[in-house]
Amino acid sequence: MTIYDLHVHSTASDGSYTPAEVMSLAAQKNIDYIALTDHDTTAGVACALENVSANLKLLPGVEISVTWHGHTIHILGLGINIATSELQQGLAKLCEFRVWRAEEMARLLDLAGIPDLLSSAQALAQGGLISRTHFAKALVDKGYAKDMRQVFKRYLVPGKPGYVRGQWASLEQAIAWILAADGMPVIAHPAKYGLSAGKLAELITAFKDFGGLALEVVSGSHSDKDCFNIAGYCKRYELFASTGSDFHGEHMPWRHLGKVRALPDGVEPLWEQAIWHHCLENVG
Ligand code: AMP
Ligand code: MN
Ligand code: MN
Ligand code: MN
Repeated sequence: MTIYDLHVHSTASDGSYTPAEVMSLAAQKNIDYIALTDHDTTAGVACALENVSANLKLLPGVEISVTWHGHTIHILGLGINIATSELQQGLAKLCEFRVWRAEEMARLLDLAGIPDLLSSAQALAQGGLISRTHFAKALVDKGYAKDMRQVFKRYLVPGKPGYVRGQWASLEQAIAWILAADGMPVIAHPAKYGLSAGKLAELITAFKDFGGLALEVVSGSHSDKDCFNIAGYCKRYELFASTGSDFHGEHMPWRHLGKVRALPDGVEPLWEQAIWHHCLENVG
């Protein structure tokens, strides 16, 4: 059986393993196809490409943060050409926003009586992209919460002291950057945005109209019920189906690299499409 894991993070964003370590773990787990999809950056791809073993195929990827009708949505770009300036210029803007947001989060947390978080979060980010995950880890390390789930709930979600609203890319922009980079746009974990059935249908329709290709049906953050539900949307909207663990490493131990259930019957796997083969030719 061929193993696909098309949603994976490294230290280039909020994962705990370096791109090289992720490639070596993937080889140990006999994964056949992996996509490195760090949040808003492709900085880990070069290192991953240098460390990919013979039996593993790497798709350069990214997970782009999008603001759509006030909701934060994640759009994966799979099999992208990372040398595309339109994509890189767009991602650079998102990373600039992240730097500002980190300062703002630290300021708000300081007002709430939690000082010195910026330097701790920056140290954890090790010069890579800074995310809420780094703040979460710093807060847990300092004893403000017992684990990652609790810390998000208490401090880092809307209505809580460390939350700053995102000003991310538009859905149209994110898809355009991915298409400009000859990649495949996929909605990440569509069941996890808390959207009503009507809003989710609206999101999927807009995504398809802008050139989107697939929905992540199997995800490390989907339950079996979510998976069957999203499979239904693939059929209804004639979109392909993708699969990914959303592996982050040690600080999110409930997600496992390469451990993904089979796609439900009746959906069209992204990897059986002509565009997939075309993208893989491009990435070598
Ligand atoms: P950001 O893109 O910087 O806003 O950070 C979002 C990241 O935080 C997600 O990609 C997850 O990795 C992580 N995250 C969000 N919510 C939770 C949660 N409840 N528990 C653990 N990690 C979370
Ligand atoms: Mn993450
Ligand atoms: Mn995500
Ligand atoms: Mn992810």
